[in-house]
Amino acid sequence: MSTRDADILSAARNWRMDGIQLPSPAAVVSEVFATDVLTANELRARLSKPVWRSLQATMERGAPIDPAIADTVALAMKTWAMEKGATHYTHWFQPLTGSTAEKHESFVVPTSDGTAISQFTGKELIQGEPDASSFPSGGLRATFEARGYTAWDPTSPAFILRHANGATLTVPTAFASFTGEALDHKTPLLRSMEALNTHAKRALALFGDRSVTKVSSTVGAEQEYFLIDEEFFYRRPDLVMCGRTLFGAKPPRGQELEDHYFGSIPDRILTYMTDVEHQLFSLGIPVRTRHNEVAPGQYEFAPIFEHTNIAADHQQLVMQVLRNTARRYGLVCLMHEKPFAGVNGSGKHVNWSMSTDSGVNLLDPGDTPHDNMVFLFFCAAVIRAVDLHQDLLRACVASASNDHRLGANEAPPAIMSMFLGQELTEVYERILSGKRGGSKASGLLGLGTPVLPHIPLHAGDRNRTSPFAFTGNKFEFRAVGSSQSISFPATVLNTIVAASVDAMTTMIEQRMKKKVAFETALVEVLKDTYTKHSRIVFNGDGYSAKWHKEAEKRGLLNLRTAVDAIETVVGPKNIELFSTYGVLSSRELEARQEVMMEQYFKTVNIEGETTEWIAQTQLLPGVFAYLRDLGAAGEAAGGTHQLISTMANDFVSALARLRAQNEELGGDTVHAKAHHMRDAVLPAMMEVRRTADRLERVVAHHHWPLPGYREMLFVK
Ligand code: ADP
Ligand code: MG
Repeated sequence: MSTRDADILSAARNWRMDGIQLPSPAAVVSEVFATDVLTANELRARLSKPVWRSLQATMERGAPIDPAIADTVALAMKTWAMEKGATHYTHWFQPLTGSTAEKHESFVVPTSDGTAISQFTGKELIQGEPDASSFPSGGLRATFEARGYTAWDPTSPAFILRHANGATLTVPTAFASFTGEALDHKTPLLRSMEALNTHAKRALALFGDRSVTKVSSTVGAEQEYFLIDEEFFYRRPDLVMCGRTLFGAKPPRGQELEDHYFGSIPDRILTYMTDVEHQLFSLGIPVRTRHNEVAPGQYEFAPIFEHTNIAADHQQLVMQVLRNTARRYGLVCLMHEKPFAGVNGSGKHVNWSMSTDSGVNLLDPGDTPHDNMVFLFFCAAVIRAVDLHQDLLRACVASASNDHRLGANEAPPAIMSMFLGQELTEVYERILSGKRGGSKASGLLGLGTPVLPHIPLHAGDRNRTSPFAFTGNKFEFRAVGSSQSISFPATVLNTIVAASVDAMTTMIEQRMKKKVAFETALVEVLKDTYTKHSRIVFNGDGYSAKWHKEAEKRGLLNLRTAVDAIETVVGPKNIELFSTYGVLSSRELEARQEVMMEQYFKTVNIEGETTEWIAQTQLLPGVFAYLRDLGAAGEAAGGTHQLISTMANDFVSALARLRAQNEELGGDTVHAKAHHMRDAVLPAMMEVRRTADRLERVVAHHHWPLPGYREMLFVK
């Protein structure tokens, strides 16, 4: 039996449940939930009243922490963590790589008398100093000042991360340079939430809602991912190095039969999912749904929404737990946006809304005229924001990996537009025309404005082809990539909507100063906003060629590649936007652009090199070995020999062209390098792949060294 067949068989058979402690049944979720989280209640029970009150001001209103209480709080945290079995603590942060970083410190400190004590001081809680020099800073950190520091984020609760031999108290933190510039994704996210809070409250005050003390954005991020057997994974250097297959002929059967989507979940996978859920529950992460996705081997998790900064932390944990747990079941979890060409890719649908501390969802139409007005205002602010900042929405999801998905025929197009649904679109159209509309429109009686129509509550239509869709009481930003941190996309959403809410509130206020009644002013501003920005609304098929033409006519941006999109990040409009709302200084924004470009270039560079390496050292020898066999087989094999030689020649020349491109960098700046990767390396890689994939279909199975799509996607 060939090695390849042996792999297939072991993948199919050799996973064992031995040693896996199955989580307790779902019935006890309530007992498990958040047991590894230092919740506000838990902390409160461990602190004196005055200390708790002071801390609460920090947690809820962002007041600076009182240094006098820091030691007490740290001690309570340490005691709790040690009761949970923790031996170490870590400041956990989100560097600009898009993943998370941690450096573990032991609680135990040796003393001069040869014993040891456990210690965790207020200072250690509040501030850490990881060696920042190996995190990308986009030029924010001069080489002579490599230090950065992490600062405790009291708005996100600390938790316990477990591994087989212990546990670590994990403290969510922000990460900044010593000059105070944000080196992470969390800091701007928190700042953007504050901007949204400020302006949404201003707007709500106009509506007479003065009791609201806080408006937060909320996010529920659905995570798509693939699972494959690890036997295959480690035989595929492309998966190991790049997270996606750089070769692979399409199998005779892909997702055509559409039998996988929502199909019954295979046993092994379901056991895995249950395990993941159990861990997430104990981390206080409310996952709710799990199912098969469209492609074979593809699955999805959806959580219940939370405040955005918590949701962003939790989303990182979801990815981490999904990845780590897979190994216990002999699986590897692929988070890449497009691990398999020709098969659906994976996204992370970021469901986004805003809600008040009194529990009102501002994007819920509601059933009173008052709620309706509030809804129409905030929804119009989103319409305006998306239209004005198409570039940013496209850029915040831009990466080398997401390029394989955006604009392909099963993912949102690279053109940003938004889906409102027929009914809601009509509501805005009616406001424009000043008509009361059909029988459904009952009007806002008693509010002095006959022109605001009643909103139908069951805007039931769905559109899966829109990058940004209204889904009844929230927007679903579908262009976000599966491997991406949601922090930057959420930062962009919060900021652009804060800016629109600000602008529209000011417009209303100006009219009211001229003695225009609030309701009249509101309608005027809604009209004005919708007239100017409705070009962004598109309810049709976003995948169709017709839409691409139409979008061009409407003057919408079509930033096809990540490089095009990233280039728009630092423009006068965006610098002003982010600095006005105190979210990112121009230097911080430039740094982000720099890091995104750098990541793009590095990713493609690694892929180019890996393609060359695999082609040269694995595929080509296999092809030659087969040619030798065919030569030895004599006359009958002549035709096949001829066919394979021709294909092999194409493959060899494509490989030579890729080698030449891999030797170049395209210039000195990250911009030049990114352009070279996109315009020269990627096409050369694709050509190598095309020629190799043709060979895969004709070369003897045992001479092809890589597990194929057939095996990876279908052995479960
Ligand atoms: P749908 O019918 O659109 O799939 P679900 O209720 O199943 O709606 O929600 C899908 C995702 O949207 C879930 O992750 C959910 O938590 C999230 N979601 C629901 N409401 C909100 C909201 N107000 N803000 C943010 N996310 C939300
Ligand atoms: Mg989905």
